[in-house]
Amino acid sequence: MSESEMYDLIIVGGGPGGLSAGIYAMRAALKTILIEMGAPGGQVNNSDSVENWPGDEHIGGAELAMKFSLHAQSYGLEIRSDEVVGLEPGLDFHTVHFSDGSALRSHAIILATGGNPRKLGIPGEDELYGKGVSYCAVCDGFFFRDKTVVVIGGGDTAAEESLYLAKLAKQVYMIHRRDALRASMLLQQRIQDECKIEVLWDTVPSAINADENGVYSVGLKSTKDGEERELEVDGTFIFIGFDPNNQLVPAGTRMNADGNVVTDEKCETNTTGLYVIGDLREKYARQIVLSAADGCTAALAAAHYVETRKSTEACELPAELLS
Ligand code: NAP
Repeated sequence: MSESEMYDLIIVGGGPGGLSAGIYAMRAALKTILIEMGAPGGQVNNSDSVENWPGDEHIGGAELAMKFSLHAQSYGLEIRSDEVVGLEPGLDFHTVHFSDGSALRSHAIILATGGNPRKLGIPGEDELYGKGVSYCAVCDGFFFRDKTVVVIGGGDTAAEESLYLAKLAKQVYMIHRRDALRASMLLQQRIQDECKIEVLWDTVPSAINADENGVYSVGLKSTKDGEERELEVDGTFIFIGFDPNNQLVPAGTRMNADGNVVTDEKCETNTTGLYVIGDLREKYARQIVLSAADGCTAALAAAHYVETRKSTEACELPAELLS
């Protein structure tokens, strides 16, 4: 493969969105390559269990990720394990640059680099991830039926996820560092009306504690007087913001205040031929099924875009015939 080889489509990111895009692109006969620097499947690999992927009542995250990857490869999708360091949009073609100085060119690019839930950085958070510490109530709430959980954060996400958890759990404690929620007034009212939710104001978590049976408590500290105490819980849900991986988004591409890329319904950005899908895209919810759906949309739109470009190029008369 030459370093400047031309593709119809380059997909950057191999999570559910990128791999779904790969499947649809290959079925549309686009010359496609997918670049992923980690394990194919992305964050899904970190989920102990997935129970909301249609068709699989219960499947391990790593197993689902493997199935996505094998499915894409069954269509002959080329997957390159490498780090992309830059995207350079152009009028004739786009260029994808790699850390070793090499580059690939393409008509269209689908950017599917996702993002990461913001971390608290307290003891127990990393070690207990997937074992009583979660960043997704829809994914993991079911495991805490009739149990006691804490939700950290006071924004819209923390409020919505607390309301979701209140349908399953016995008791939900919302831990917020101030004396007023950031969430919308409507959500605040719903939180107040939900008897299973109690907000612990002016409080931050200091540690998450577990034994061989899982999480049993969180350490709490008052932001008013520094007083410390321990609260018995079975699970901890953390919603203090989300950081999209937008480092590769080219200058001039529209993003919202949270750093998510704004697209149209075809997942196309205001940079022609650049599509953004999954958690990097501005959207209502972050779910595996939605990323996969984005991948389908973007690949179909990219196929139409590439075909139109190629047919236009084919119709252009050589300069010598025009003179
Ligand atoms: P967010 O609005 O940034 O809220 C993060 C919350 O976490 C804030 O309450 C913040 O406290 C708290 N926090 C941040 N760092 C913390 C730390 N280190 N320790 C303790 N608490 C910490 O994030 P989000 O709720 O994920 O929402 C992101 C965006 O999506 C927002 O624009 C939101 O409106 C939007 N959204 C909308 C909907 C909807 O419309 N249905 C649903 C979800 C999200 P402070 O308040 O003190 O800063």
